[in-house]
Amino acid sequence: MLLDLLDYPSYTLTLPSSGKILSYRPFLEMERKVLLMALQAADEKEIRETIKNIIGSCFSLKPTEINETLTLFDIEYMFLHLRAKSIEEIVSLNYTCDNILENDSPCGNIMKVDVNLLDIPVEGLDKNSLIVPLNKDLFVEMRYPTLDNLRLDVDEETDDVTNLIIDCIHMIYSSKETHLKKDLSREDLVTFLGRLTIQQSQKLVDFVENLPTVKKVLTIVCDKCKYSHTITLQGLQSFFL
Ligand SMILES: [Zn+2]
Repeated sequence: MLLDLLDYPSYTLTLPSSGKILSYRPFLEMERKVLLMALQAADEKEIRETIKNIIGSCFSLKPTEINETLTLFDIEYMFLHLRAKSIEEIVSLNYTCDNILENDSPCGNIMKVDVNLLDIPVEGLDKNSLIVPLNKDLFVEMRYPTLDNLRLDVDEETDDVTNLIIDCIHMIYSSKETHLKKDLSREDLVTFLGRLTIQQSQKLVDFVENLPTVKKVLTIVCDKCKYSHTITLQGLQSFFL
């Protein structure tokens, strides 16, 4: 068989959320084409589906395993490594220097920076406790969101932050009672969140605003005006989208 002649390299990666070691092959020409088409269409749902399919094929994971065991930051980290091993490890990014010069016009110099995709860590895992205390005897246990958690068609009556908080809640408990999210209705949760004090509510907002993500802070000095820029690369879209 012609296709039997093909043989792919195998690599390993440590999953940020669990420390589990997974092996993977690079993505192939046909998979790269599907990815490029999704990126060009710029349809978020299509990009997400494509990334999920490619990760499933390259890491030999079933859709249920992807949905149930991988967090969003796992997927980001896996995809950066997959992209590095499939195409190249170094990505060249361009930034335009927006420093205002003495003549009141922006510098406009194009600065090129090379980033090694294998060198991008997941930040925020250590700071973010999954147990959020609301008072001495009331706690919310959170989960990190998965790819499917991030709703694209959000409930219009609640805002994005509230929706994300609801997606991340796993259970609410005190010494007397435990309520698992799966046993609660969405309405119950919205009502519960609405009746928290502002300080309590802020603790849950802080959780979703500081979710772990692939992140790298770079310092680049413009070679024309010598201004020093601090650039934060965060999330997959900073690297290629
Ligand atoms: Zn400049």
